Amino acid sequence: MKSVEIPGPLGRRRGPGLKLGVKRLLWPLGRLLADLLPRLFDLTLALFVLLILSPLLVIRVLSSLAQARRVLDGDGRIGRLRCPFRRLRFAGRGPLRGLAVWLNVLRGDMAVVGPRPLTAAEAAAVPVPDQVRFAVRPGLVSPFGLRSRVGIAHVQESALDREFVYGQSMKGDLGLAARSVVSGVLGGSGGANRPAPAVLNFCAVPIVNTTMAEAVDWVVARADPALAGHGAPAQMAFVNPDCLNIAWRHDDYRHVLQRADRVLPDGIGIHIGCRMRGEMLRENVNGTDMFPLLCEAAARAGRSLYLLGARPGIAAAAAQTMQGRFPDLVVAGTRDGYFDAADEPGVIDAINASGADILLVAFGAPRQDLWVASNRERLTVRVAFGVGGLFDFYSGRIPRAPVWMRELGLEWAFRLLQEPGRMWRRYVIGNPLFLFRVWRQMLAPERFALPAAGRDIHHGEST
Ligand code: UDP
Repeated sequence: MKSVEIPGPLGRRRGPGLKLGVKRLLWPLGRLLADLLPRLFDLTLALFVLLILSPLLVIRVLSSLAQARRVLDGDGRIGRLRCPFRRLRFAGRGPLRGLAVWLNVLRGDMAVVGPRPLTAAEAAAVPVPDQVRFAVRPGLVSPFGLRSRVGIAHVQESALDREFVYGQSMKGDLGLAARSVVSGVLGGSGGANRPAPAVLNFCAVPIVNTTMAEAVDWVVARADPALAGHGAPAQMAFVNPDCLNIAWRHDDYRHVLQRADRVLPDGIGIHIGCRMRGEMLRENVNGTDMFPLLCEAAARAGRSLYLLGARPGIAAAAAQTMQGRFPDLVVAGTRDGYFDAADEPGVIDAINASGADILLVAFGAPRQDLWVASNRERLTVRVAFGVGGLFDFYSGRIPRAPVWMRELGLEWAFRLLQEPGRMWRRYVIGNPLFLFRVWRQMLAPERFALPAAGRDIHHGEST
């Protein structure tokens, strides 16, 4: 009888063979190099930076001594393996104080790339599954910091850090460092010191300055079935510079946005507009990033969605993708966005008959928002809003820009490359035109006063 081969230690032992033997011998050496190389890289870069900037550092040291009679200050942070350290800065006032942090890199408290160094209170609040972030040195630049700069840090910081640690590689770190430099040069500081008004006024459209998490909570709360029968559904809208350019000349659209229950800021253009005016945009709250978060929250809260719009089959495919990710999600119905005016009553009846709580309409701006406004009274959903080309992305029909492009605020450039014929006017002409209009509004703000109703609604709800 043929003997059965049992794998593992019970099986017949074979010699490792020359190739495997060499591999086993080299493996620990490889691991050591993999651990040492990033540290070597950090050390070299820190030495290089300190050396190049040494004339400035001498002036900075003298200035600190003159002002504070000491060179360095620091604040307590929690480092690798939860070891506390002092994050350094030069004492006194004035520029370049932050350069002292390169001494932390030299000492090994910090790396160039890593999770943000946390205070003791922040470190204590990190959920247990995300504590793996303490396995690596905190970084001068972090994935969360990079995304915050363009307002797309919608995932919880500790979860993003966990993902970073598990997927860390030399190539990934170099990419993140390069993107941070580029975004720092393009975008300046994160703008934490600028005021963040509750409502932003662009082209007389009141835009709620909020976070993605709050915006999702708002939709789910407004979609509460207990509110059924209490008047027309709430209307929400996302606006990007293209929408605001349209609203500039399209009175009906502008009035719809002014009367909507809330308008949310979509895209890097609004971020840049805010920076021009010395304001801070809290987050880029766009529909494409909101969709999966909303699906997750809706599934948890038991709210159902209806997806209306895009080419035949696309909304259904997007629904399928999301139900694959969130099995509890109820999509009460889907329907494409290519129907005649004569079919409209039937479409509305189908939405109402589905019993959906939240209606997403993907016809593109301004049509989708005008459609919601003009059919509000006939719809029995509790929240309705336009979402542009969102179903195309989630159905896989059109690929979305890679994360590195989004982190640089270049999603628009990717869209331009995908459909140059349709998008060049929107971006190549539209983006500068929008910034020109922001500048005009800065010169004559009284011409762009918000209508009283819009101002009241938005102040009331965003605070
Ligand atoms: N669309 C539709 N019916 C129409 C015209 C357009 O459903 O009569 C859909 C189109 O298929 C696409 C979306 O509306 O899915 C508009 O996408 P676009 O890229 O213009 O939106 P954006 O997000 O750029 O505003």
